[in-house]
Amino acid sequence: MTGARGFRQELVALFGQPVDENPTQAMIEAAFRAADLDWRYLTIEVAPEGLADAVRGLRAMGMRGANCTIPHKVAVMEHLDAIAPEARAIGAVNCIVNENGRLTGHNTDGRGFLASLCAVADPAGQQVVILGAGGAARAIGVELALAGARSITIVNRSAERGRALARHLASAGARANFLPLAGDLRLPAGTGIFVNATSIGLHPDAGAHVPLVFDTLRPNLVVADVIPNPPRTRLVREATARGCTVLDGLGMLVNQGVIGFHLWTGADPDPQVMRAALEEIFGAPTHA
Ligand code: NDP
Repeated sequence: MTGARGFRQELVALFGQPVDENPTQAMIEAAFRAADLDWRYLTIEVAPEGLADAVRGLRAMGMRGANCTIPHKVAVMEHLDAIAPEARAIGAVNCIVNENGRLTGHNTDGRGFLASLCAVADPAGQQVVILGAGGAARAIGVELALAGARSITIVNRSAERGRALARHLASAGARANFLPLAGDLRLPAGTGIFVNATSIGLHPDAGAHVPLVFDTLRPNLVVADVIPNPPRTRLVREATARGCTVLDGLGMLVNQGVIGFHLWTGADPDPQVMRAALEEIFGAPTHA
């Protein structure tokens, strides 16, 4: 597959540290192949002190864009030419698009989550509980606020971080409050959507306990976990067993990738191909 440009491929990259375990390349390159695009996605370890040079390199090499992951999502913003409104509202960038040398920072994490959620439920008017107050919780909280959630309760181990996120969402116009985490959380009556946006359950601590009284999960709840690896977390299994509508972290990962792919290439990728590439890596159907 040489295409009209001969032997040169269009390039997209992932900048992060650590990145060795990040599976995004497999997902995006599967989508490039399925769309018959002669593009490459490079997984590149970039230390914090090398970030400015990495972005200069992206410009110099005419790369079409990049994803940013830990620890660059906030720091990268000062190196870009423009920040998209949702990334500005979230305060972090995970996707860079290079349009003729002008770099724009986007945030696809929250929109990816929302795309997964909207496939099963409309968040407008819902009472939402988010466990966690880090970058993922922030992106999800802002998008849920923009989507018209009736109220958003942030529950977090660090009270300072939890309060700050609740304040941030309130300043964006949401009805948001902070609930301190004291022992296992009992979901308040009326909760329609529960999101685990912490890193609890992430490989290699797959068995780690999400501080939740599982018996407060009722069948009419939507339960979403951000953990992509392994996809069948303990929370996903407990919620499935109780008849909840359950979203795993692979859906969010695929959907944020779909948005990034479209921003870079202008084409719509096949989400099934992307999910299949990840399931091959994580063994989703059999992971217990
Ligand atoms: P951060 O480090 O910014 O935040 C981590 C959050 O988890 C904080 O709220 C932290 O609480 C909480 N936490 C961690 N360990 C514990 C624990 N033992 N008990 C209670 N709370 C805990 O990480 P991110 O928000 O960037 O990422 C969170 C997760 O989201 C990661 O696992 C990541 O893989 C996943 N993610 C998934 C995506 C997807 O597409 N599926 C996209 C982006 C992220 P505290 O503030 O008290 O430290």
